[in-house]
Amino acid sequence: MPETIIYLDNQATTRVDPRVVQAMLPVFDRSYANAGSVTHELGLAASDLVEESAESIAKCLNARRSEIVFTSGATESNNLAIRGVCLRRHTSGHLVTVQTEHKAVLDPIAKLEKQGFEATRLSVVPNGNDDAGLIRLDELEDSLRSDTLLVSVMMANNEIGIVQPIREIVELCHAHDVLLHVDATQAVGHIPVDVQHLGVDLLSFSAHKFYGPKGIGGLYVRRTDRRVRLASQIDGGGQQENRRSGTLNVPGIVGMAAALELCQSEIDAQSEDQRRCQLRNRLYAGLQDKLGDLPLNGPALERSGLRLSNNLNCQFPNIDGHSIMSGAPELAVSSGSACTSADPEPSHVLAALGITHDEIQSSLRMSVGRFTTEPEIDRAVELLVRSVESMRQFGTDSSSSV
Ligand code: PMP
Repeated sequence: MPETIIYLDNQATTRVDPRVVQAMLPVFDRSYANAGSVTHELGLAASDLVEESAESIAKCLNARRSEIVFTSGATESNNLAIRGVCLRRHTSGHLVTVQTEHKAVLDPIAKLEKQGFEATRLSVVPNGNDDAGLIRLDELEDSLRSDTLLVSVMMANNEIGIVQPIREIVELCHAHDVLLHVDATQAVGHIPVDVQHLGVDLLSFSAHKFYGPKGIGGLYVRRTDRRVRLASQIDGGGQQENRRSGTLNVPGIVGMAAALELCQSEIDAQSEDQRRCQLRNRLYAGLQDKLGDLPLNGPALERSGLRLSNNLNCQFPNIDGHSIMSGAPELAVSSGSACTSADPEPSHVLAALGITHDEIQSSLRMSVGRFTTEPEIDRAVELLVRSVESMRQFGTDSSSSV
């Protein structure tokens, strides 16, 4: 591995903030008891830490403490939400989701289809439009049926950064008496997420996407107005009111709360969003300046509010993305979604935007974060330009790639 890495893969995961590490350390060697062991002082101390952290997380999301269920991450949260709603009282029924969802939504739904449920996958506005990746509300409304149990729409996309109009989507769903689950994994910690304001029923999040540790996440489950009930997916010791059994990950929960508090102060100050936007735009401008037109995948960068400020996804025409990456080993970027990078299929998100196979092979996702600096962006431009130019000279085109 090269000595210094320029990390532009913050949508795959983020480095744990050193302040989060500091908050977690005492939990490993001092407050290490099982938070369920309320028969002794050490267990009570661990339980207090969980409660304080849960209160703080709930506050950041404008939820109640009792509405937060801890999980191992957003994959589990999505599974709990989707399977939990469908399998509580039903053996059949209809679900609606979007073609560009994460596999952690698409796969549990595909599995439910095999068990007798039906699903509609909404299309999105094609690439080349300012609002590429957006769902169409009329298509959503048309898809709703009398037996629709749940709609699952992500708040912000992990590959192209499009931000969906969750409030409007909630209104439509509730007007038809349908629950809405939102995979907010890429949104929480980055843009304001207020569950009361949004009105959502279920919302997934994961600490490692906002400078917290891996292996801890949560699901918001509405209890005000209309209480949402789920069939538990992991059974055992009955922790978390039987909603998700298993010994609580106390260091993870403490770390997630510390991480979210730090993000919340950045969101309140609106400082980080602007900084990231400048870095992202500098990267794209620098690349285009040296390499010519690099078609953008997803919504226009100028449409702030419609695209996450940390995300860039663009094509390097006729050059294979993997070859560009191997020509710049000091750079950590991603081709499509890191979560599916073991999958030889081209990105299903880019394909849903109407982007061709060759164009997908020539695409890279670059995502900036809290620790990205301007000199790093300039160096990243140099490295990418050098790699692309050498491909152009010696040739490795996208159509010949595997
Ligand atoms: N949903 C989205 C939108 C994601 O980006 C990810 C992570 N790539 C997940 C779900 C899965 O999250 P986790 O890694 O916490 O299981």
